[in-house]
Amino acid sequence: MAQHFLLSAASRTLSLRSIYKAGEEAAYQTFCEMRWPETDGEAVCPRCGHDETYSITTRRKFKCKACAHQFSVTSGTIFASRKMDFVDLLAAICIIVNASKGVSMIQLSRDLDCQYKTAFVLAHKLREAMAQEVQTGEVLEGHVEIDGAYFGGHIRPENRKEDRKDRRLKAHQTGKRRVVIAMRERVGRTLPIVTMAEGEGVALANENICRMATMSADEASHWDELHMGWSVDRVNHSECYSDHGKHTNMAESYFSRLRRMVSGQHHHVSPQYLNQYANRAAWLEDNRRFDNGELAHRLVANSMGAPVSRSWKGYWQRAA
Ligand SMILES: [Zn+2]
Repeated sequence: MAQHFLLSAASRTLSLRSIYKAGEEAAYQTFCEMRWPETDGEAVCPRCGHDETYSITTRRKFKCKACAHQFSVTSGTIFASRKMDFVDLLAAICIIVNASKGVSMIQLSRDLDCQYKTAFVLAHKLREAMAQEVQTGEVLEGHVEIDGAYFGGHIRPENRKEDRKDRRLKAHQTGKRRVVIAMRERVGRTLPIVTMAEGEGVALANENICRMATMSADEASHWDELHMGWSVDRVNHSECYSDHGKHTNMAESYFSRLRRMVSGQHHHVSPQYLNQYANRAAWLEDNRRFDNGELAHRLVANSMGAPVSRSWKGYWQRAA
């Protein structure tokens, strides 16, 4: 039997040992090279685009020779105003890409010996950076599977039977339940979108799936409408999961990863941020064939390309 990719030596090209052994200066250089790949890590002014700068080495800042603007390697990126060392940031990225079902913030804070709050915001910023690769705005093509899965809104049953409520009734629900609609190309990308009801998936398909594509869906009646726009394979899950190549198993394996991430690592995710976890799982799913060095490389590049986070910059200062 062929060896599973994740068991092969080829999947391991980066380790925490190598990051810490190389040290802070090497980590800093990595960030410079990812921020300015066209100039091999030589600083380029983000304001005027001039590529000659004075280097203020003690403060790791640059001053543009043309417009005198001062900036650092992380200015204007998702890591703007960072306080963590570059070597710790790189270690955090390594830990996060190694966790194929996500990693809890408590665990990250223990590994990095930082506050829980720091780990929480850092991990959310990295998820936002990954989302750039997932939510590209491009339509899906080829053969696309669509399915929905419900997350959150668990109602704990009362201890005594006579006190228990009928959890199916709307009046007893928490309003925190959401559905993740996954649209997944058989060869290519996964696009998750969070909504209130699975039926909204038809409108999302209209916006995000190319008219030339073919589709697969399960037997749920709201997917009947898809037949108006596409040629659709249907599979009845009460009879079988795959009917001679008609299946939604790639969407299901995406949900399997997301379920394990939510129930095994995060335990609780708020409906407000479910989309972030959904993007994270899609990123992992689409990049599953890359070794961990390549994954870390991509994530640093995503972070250097992602703008300052509107949701997460100064999050705890705001909350206080
Ligand atoms: Zn300038």
